[in-house]
Amino acid sequence: MTFDTLGLSADLLRTVTEEGYTEPTPVQAKAIPLVLAGKDVLAAAQTGTGKTAAFTLPILDRLRQHANTSFSPARHPVRALILVPTRELAVQVDESVKTYGRTVPLRSTVVYGGMPMEPQIRELRGGIEILVATPGRLLDLVGQRVANLGQVEILVLDEADRMLDMGFLPDIQRIVALLPAKRQNLKFS
Ligand code: AMP
Repeated sequence: MTFDTLGLSADLLRTVTEEGYTEPTPVQAKAIPLVLAGKDVLAAAQTGTGKTAAFTLPILDRLRQHANTSFSPARHPVRALILVPTRELAVQVDESVKTYGRTVPLRSTVVYGGMPMEPQIRELRGGIEILVATPGRLLDLVGQRVANLGQVEILVLDEADRMLDMGFLPDIQRIVALLPAKRQNLKFS
């Protein structure tokens, strides 16, 4: 199995090669074509199985149609929301989005608790297409009206089981209620 059978665009295939990946992991081989096709995906995959690339690569391809160079924040609404349970995972996933997305002109950032809110507010106000967030901090930012989730097309719940174990269900429910009903849902447990 090679990456070029999965339907990813040429620049992402090049990035993957540059990262030294020669073949997709099982979760990547299964999930990437489904995510590209706009399907909902529920996958069981541990950390270390390549799950971050399994959702990030096809999300980048699906959202690249929205890439634009406008200075207006309104032209850069949050299109993909990736919810994660911990600050550590948030940082890792954000790094992966930036690594895999280095040829794709979409903006990404990460927000999590235990950090001053000001820099996160400034970044969000500028417009961000791909947002990695822990649930509590995201709700704080929504409450301050700096994060608008009304144009989210893709929701990723990363380590969903761990988020539930950590008691995030009410927060997740509140966040989901703010999203468009029609969206793509990706859940990794
Ligand atoms: P993850 O499960 O997403 O945390 O990824 C675990 C590690 O596997 C990361 O360090 C990735 O750089 C690496 N990785 C992801 N996909 C592949 C692949 N297809 N081949 C080799 N390494 C990979």
